[in-house]
Amino acid sequence: MLTLATSNPAKYAPFARDLERMGLVIEPPAQPLPELQSLNFAETLAAKARAAALLFGRPVLVDDSGLVLEAYAPFPGPLTSTVLGSLGAPGLRRLLAGTSDRAVMECHLGCWFNGALRFWTGSVHGRIDLARPCLDPRMALSDLFIPDPAGAGETPRPPGDAGQPPSLKGSSTGQSPLPHRARALAALEADVFELHLETAPAETDSAPPCATRPGYDCPFCAEFEDDNLSTFAGIMGERLPRRIVYEDEHFVVMPPLGEFMEGGLLLLTREHILSFAHLPPARFDHLERLLQAIQRALVKCWGAVPLVFEHGPAPDSSKGVCCVDHAHLNIFPATVRVQPHLAGRMHFSLGALAGLAKLRRAEFGYLFVQENDGSRHAYDGREVPTQLVRRIIATQLGIPERWHWRDYLGQDELVATYNALKGQICP
Ligand SMILES: [Zn+2]
Repeated sequence: MLTLATSNPAKYAPFARDLERMGLVIEPPAQPLPELQSLNFAETLAAKARAAALLFGRPVLVDDSGLVLEAYAPFPGPLTSTVLGSLGAPGLRRLLAGTSDRAVMECHLGCWFNGALRFWTGSVHGRIDLARPCLDPRMALSDLFIPDPAGAGETPRPPGDAGQPPSLKGSSTGQSPLPHRARALAALEADVFELHLETAPAETDSAPPCATRPGYDCPFCAEFEDDNLSTFAGIMGERLPRRIVYEDEHFVVMPPLGEFMEGGLLLLTREHILSFAHLPPARFDHLERLLQAIQRALVKCWGAVPLVFEHGPAPDSSKGVCCVDHAHLNIFPATVRVQPHLAGRMHFSLGALAGLAKLRRAEFGYLFVQENDGSRHAYDGREVPTQLVRRIIATQLGIPERWHWRDYLGQDELVATYNALKGQICP
């Protein structure tokens, strides 16, 4: 979980569900955070985020918000409450007399780590309406500031997953008429999974999966070692003594038990590692080439660019025994879009498979999915039901009864896949 440090938790009450989805908890700081006297949000935010990191002893998120008057930009910015408090409505009226009444409400969220500030911004354009009756002597900005009609002057979202529309609807709850905070949170949401990973404590980074007892109790390692003693041999041995269609010094490719459609494959590391996040970095190029070769073979035989996915388990060093999970990519020549079924989860998109390495720190594990169009996303693995992606695919294909491998071994499909692909994968 990441902490959002604020002395005014009420501001985030309308966003409780969004915060939960993003794994953020509100925590008031034990002592007030410094309010730097500057007109520059980046400066005030950096000072606050830095102080908060020191106070909490870890990177935490902080926020700052305020009004920028177009006629006096960037004034008053971070000084909004001080300035408006002393000006009052009459003073503001004099200030704006004969000049533009245009203004922007801004909300900034920031986090200080690795010696730098990362920040996310939401803003809403509008105007100051001093003709409105302002009953509150503290001059509530929400009474004076009139946002432009929806859609006008929206802040572009920062680079991230442009495919996901912001799901934050704080402004529609009725408690927050100004959507600047909702927009800042939406900008953060695009990056929040990576932020969790980057700010996670370093000790989970190095959890050495199974280094001490390689392959302990692992059916895949058993099968690589001695075909005759494996789970596979027990079930299929009579019909198919061996199922490996491709192998080299680092990887093994074979059809899975639970072959719910022809052409389905597992791509395994030869070495017993927890997940592909733990693959030695130098091997990712090799992996990319092998995946390309598999894709060519599947397109040739089944005419479909495959879906590729992995459920990377959470590192569990607490058990003190070797994990039984053995890194494997699932590959199926199914034309199914998985992303819409996972859209509510924290995620980021990645280009090269080498980007999986940052998921070593995924506290709850992860889901990696490469769609038919080649786009790749990593999703937070929190509360992922067993074999979720298999369920999604089988359901979309209209064969929901086949999603669990124990219910549908797919022996015929497995043998057909083996016969079609043996010797056909050539990286
Ligand atoms: Zn193994």
